[in-house]
Amino acid sequence: MGKLDDIVSLCKRRGFIFPGSDVYGGMAGTWDFGPLGVILKKKIENSWWDFFVEKREDMYGVDAAILMNPKTWVASGHTDTFSDPLVECKNCHGRFRADKIADSISESVTTEEFQKLGVKCPTCGKSDWGEIRQFNMMFSTHVGPITDDSSIAYLRPETAQGIFTNYKNVVDTFYPDVPFGIAQQGKAFRNEISPRDFILRDRECSQMEIEYFVHPDTWEENFEKLLEINHAFLEDVMGISKEKIHELEVPAEDRAHYSKRTVDIEYDYPNGKEELMGIAYRTDFDLANIARESGKSMEYRDKNTGEVYIPHVIEPSIGVERLFLAVLSEAYIEDEIDGSKRVLLKLPENLAPYKYCVSPLLKNKPELVEKAREVYDILRAKYGNVTWDDSGNIGKRYRKQDEIGTPKCVVVDFDTLEDGTVTVRDRDTAKQVRVKAGEI
Ligand SMILES: [Zn+2]
Repeated sequence: MGKLDDIVSLCKRRGFIFPGSDVYGGMAGTWDFGPLGVILKKKIENSWWDFFVEKREDMYGVDAAILMNPKTWVASGHTDTFSDPLVECKNCHGRFRADKIADSISESVTTEEFQKLGVKCPTCGKSDWGEIRQFNMMFSTHVGPITDDSSIAYLRPETAQGIFTNYKNVVDTFYPDVPFGIAQQGKAFRNEISPRDFILRDRECSQMEIEYFVHPDTWEENFEKLLEINHAFLEDVMGISKEKIHELEVPAEDRAHYSKRTVDIEYDYPNGKEELMGIAYRTDFDLANIARESGKSMEYRDKNTGEVYIPHVIEPSIGVERLFLAVLSEAYIEDEIDGSKRVLLKLPENLAPYKYCVSPLLKNKPELVEKAREVYDILRAKYGNVTWDDSGNIGKRYRKQDEIGTPKCVVVDFDTLEDGTVTVRDRDTAKQVRVKAGEI
């Protein structure tokens, strides 16, 4: 088993992530966050919001509707270009993303180019391919009771457009000075041809995006600044090691249709290097298109100089699931304690689902349980994220807490009743110290 399989297994075993619709045999490309997963996910999202929005004066938040006027996707270019090259094996009728089953070809590969490569079907091994078709990845639905072309709407493929379409609302109500940013967290949907790699390529994901509006002359310096603070966030707040993060300057032919510069920040996932987040210079592409499609001016007037222009945009965009998996991959460790193997989730304290676990040494001694409950209530009132565990023996409890990343375990024993001290056991070192319960 590879490390990714170990992480997937831990996620299921300990209630971080379950396959979507598990009880019905699953639903490809969907995953459900369980009780511990949702705590970790919210901590990641809240840390991001705190770091990029609440602690800054130049950021505004929005939470836009997922269903948007279809003109949005015409203006943004998604209706025409948000597609992947789909190819079907004529022998077994398996469908694949052409650029994922062949090495070093671009997403705009033609049928002729592809057939020359002699790529073998990953399912049946034959090389008998149909035409390459550009497959649009937006999920469509119908809004209202009538199901015809006039009622088509899409589940948003990115959160960015909910920001752009609110740019004018924010400018007209808050009069921000440029540069300023608008941030949003929320769901986005992509009808991936072949979802894979656990939560890395799923059909429904959560994004955290910022559109940072700048004067066109200053995009380069602002790009650098955003790149730098995103590194700081990943390393200092998410606890991701610097050596596992790599910048990739995305070449023109691989960039999204709107971008003039994109830097992907890649992470060394257990199964190889993969995109963790991206920062894209989107120019005035989106605002200019919205102005054209809506007939409304997207110009900004500088309060001091009177200059009128359409701001340019730099977009840091990160997928919550990708970040979640990077955090878990970083934290997942197997080591040995007293000669036996253990699995340890060395999560940073700010992200661990529980800060403390409180236990009575023995479950069947009411006086210990009562005292432990007292300690538990005090810690819970103080720290919030504290868990109670009186299952199994103490060794098993430690292993379980190690696996879910709880930094400290507090155990109430007979000495506690005498002198008020408890055992505090450290997750990473497995060392135990005795301290007064009131000093935790
Ligand atoms: Zn085949």
